[in-house]
Formats: sequence, structure tokens, C-alpha cells
Amino acid sequence: MKLSSVTNVIIDFIFPPFCILCGKETDKEYICTECKNKIRYIEYPLIEHDGRKFYYAITYYEDVIEKAIQKFKFGGVKALSITFADIFSEFIKNNNLPFDYVAYIPMTRRETLRRGFNQTYLIAREISKAFNKPLIRDIKKIKETKKQVELSRREREVNLKNVFKLSNEISGDLLIVDDVYTTGSTAREIVKTASKKCKGNIIFISLSRRVS
Ligand SMILES: [Zn+2]
Repeated sequence: MKLSSVTNVIIDFIFPPFCILCGKETDKEYICTECKNKIRYIEYPLIEHDGRKFYYAITYYEDVIEKAIQKFKFGGVKALSITFADIFSEFIKNNNLPFDYVAYIPMTRRETLRRGFNQTYLIAREISKAFNKPLIRDIKKIKETKKQVELSRREREVNLKNVFKLSNEISGDLLIVDDVYTTGSTAREIVKTASKKCKGNIIFISLSRRVS
């Protein structure tokens, strides 16, 4: 490991003595218990089930989760990947969702350079460690796309058509993790790509769902 990456790990994963959302002192957590208790979990988290394809979202994209995701993605608080992975782990165990591999939503090289990291990769990496299941890194994003936020539902689908590519076969059940589920265009497109090479179940889980 190079010295620069060691320093990065220390900076990213140092335990803050305070909650990153409200500033209150915490004990080894990035979000305090009081803020965590405000997270609203979706009562019926299964969004869609189509054969061996399953789509879930865990929480509502609002309040604490929205702020935390913003801090994670745009504020670069990478250590939140641990807190988010804990939420996924609890959900996976409670809903008894077995899987053999874990994957994330890939970004193009340009997108990764712009943000500095891929947030769903960081979460998937923690889940991979927690369950001791291999992380699949060969789903690639092969085209630059427009920002989904600025597009209508129909435009989002066109924008994402055939943007993902998976070359190798996957034997077993695949978990794909995402941070925010909006119209489901990304979810359906990546699941479609994965299902061509993966013969097992494909379980797509988003940390949160934007419900407008
Ligand atoms: Zn707090």
C-alpha cells in the first residue's frame, strides 16, 4: 500500500467524535442514535418481482437519509459507507435474501474522476466484507450519459439504454446495491444486463427511494 493511500484511509475512516448530521457527540458512530431513529423505513420494501429479478428499496429518501447521502456523495464523507452497509446488512438478514456475489452501479472513468470515488462501490465493498461474498467488479458503464435528474421518465430510459456491459458469466445469486431509487430506470437497465450473464436470482436493493 502506498503512503498516500494509507493517509487516505486514516482520514476517511477516523472516528468522528460527533454526529455528521446534528453535531452531537457520538460513540464511534457517524450518525448519532437520535438521528438514526428518525430514518423512515419503507413498510413494503419490495418494489417489483419479475421471475428471478427482485427490486427493493429500504428507506424513504428524505430527512436524515437524504442529508446523509448528500454528505456521502457530494461532501465526500466516505466513512458513511460503513453506516449505509450496516443498514443493508440488517435489511438482508431480516428479509432473508441470500446472495453469492455483490455488485454496484458502475460509473464511467470520467464520472469517477469528477466525483473522486464511486459511492455505490464503497457500500458494496463493505457489504462484501460483512458477508464474506466476492465483489463483482466487471459490470462496466460503457457510455457517458446525461444527468438523470434533468430528464423525464421516458428520456431516462433512452439515456440509459445499453449503457452497462457484463462480459463474464456469473454462477449464483447476485446482489446489486444502489443509493437512490427514483423511476427505476437504472435498476431495470442494470438488472437486464446482469440477467443475460447471471443465471441465478438478481436482487437489486436501493438504500432509499425517492417518492414524490
Ligand atoms: Zn445526530
